[in-house]
Amino acid sequence: MNAPIHTKRHSVYSDTREQHRLQMGTRPFEESPCEQGFSPAITTHSPSPSSVEAKATQPGFQLGDISVMPKSDSLPRPAQTEQPLLRLNTPSQWVSRQVSQGAAAVQRDWLGDLMASIQRITAIAQHRTQQTRIANIIQQGLAIVVDPSKGTRNRDNLLHNSCEWIQQGHCRVVILTPTHDSTTRDPTQGVAYFDPQVFHPNVGGDYPADPAVKVSPHLKYDVANALGGLQPGGLVLEIINPARQSDDEIKGTLIHEVQHDADQTWPRQVWAVAGGPVFNDYQSEFRAYWIENPEGSANDRFGRSSRRARNNRIVTFTDPVSGTIHTCRTRFRNRRQENIFWHLVNTGYDYVPQFYTTDRAFRRMVNSFSRPVGGNLVNSVRIQAVSQALTACTPASARGSAEVTALFAAVDQLDQLDRRFLSNRWRAGSFWQQARASLSPRIYRQFRQRIGT
Ligand SMILES: [Zn+2]
Repeated sequence: MNAPIHTKRHSVYSDTREQHRLQMGTRPFEESPCEQGFSPAITTHSPSPSSVEAKATQPGFQLGDISVMPKSDSLPRPAQTEQPLLRLNTPSQWVSRQVSQGAAAVQRDWLGDLMASIQRITAIAQHRTQQTRIANIIQQGLAIVVDPSKGTRNRDNLLHNSCEWIQQGHCRVVILTPTHDSTTRDPTQGVAYFDPQVFHPNVGGDYPADPAVKVSPHLKYDVANALGGLQPGGLVLEIINPARQSDDEIKGTLIHEVQHDADQTWPRQVWAVAGGPVFNDYQSEFRAYWIENPEGSANDRFGRSSRRARNNRIVTFTDPVSGTIHTCRTRFRNRRQENIFWHLVNTGYDYVPQFYTTDRAFRRMVNSFSRPVGGNLVNSVRIQAVSQALTACTPASARGSAEVTALFAAVDQLDQLDRRFLSNRWRAGSFWQQARASLSPRIYRQFRQRIGT
């Protein structure tokens, strides 16, 4: 049985929606470049060195021409000496025909390369636009004043905390934009995006102009419908193809991906549960999808947790090696839990149906994980700081020790939203389990009192 790849990916588009978008021809970079226009940044006659290299091989092409690019039907054409085929009955005419065919081929290559260059420059310009847009969204999020009275699931509260998480460097953000040849660069690896070398808040990025270059530090491949991801260990947060996402969807992606980092459930991290990566990945996705949009809000697709689950569909998994088909009924408790599960099944989290149908312990966990439980469901840098301070403590640590003093200093930094979240010791179970295991009973009581629970 193949182990799942340990990545946490945030995919929204169902197959149906993806196909619809393809049919509508709305995918970026598939339109005529002439219809897309150019941003002012592109008309400054300062293309990147690699684009210079690409164009230097084109006959008669001047870099300065980019800003005054004519429509393709008015481009200069090689001289036409072609004669109708039936009249090619003399050696001189035959030679003329061969020459004209060669000229036409050169013209086609020249036009194709020129169009690719324009599309590439457009992609780079759009990339910069999206980087600036994401930076603005993060700035807007930082400017939000947290209002504890609106609750721990409030979109503004969670967005502010998520942006603070990024600002303080808990994870670095990279924007990935499809290359102009994203679907043809190397389909065996997936869709090509750039540029994983440029981190927020920096703006810029580039990738090899030569389509034959399949591997580069400036290229990254992913599935077509990915919206975000968190690389193993949580150090890099990817916003993927943001041009496809509304501002509100971007905010949801930020909250979702930061939660993957804030929940501290990568292997060997302090809040990882028994059961291994599959258990932790499922629970992490469940939490992230649950909180990315407030329950019942306009963008929420997962429904109410107050409604009973339907449990009217069969989970199916076909073993790719043996061909054996595994099926299983579901036993979910509420509609929101059920819809998140089916979203994962339908959007490429293949380990979910695989383990649900073949691993009894996993199935039981999924059925009983009906609401999100985690250590930091509000994406708070202050709760993270308390958790880190706890890792320095042991039940032998005295009240006056440096580690307990540092711990209590971190507790004093918690804001009212943090304390409100932590006051539910079932929901914040991972946090409280860590505290109980790290402190003597006496200091644990003082710790609780200091937090206000
Ligand atoms: Zn995710």
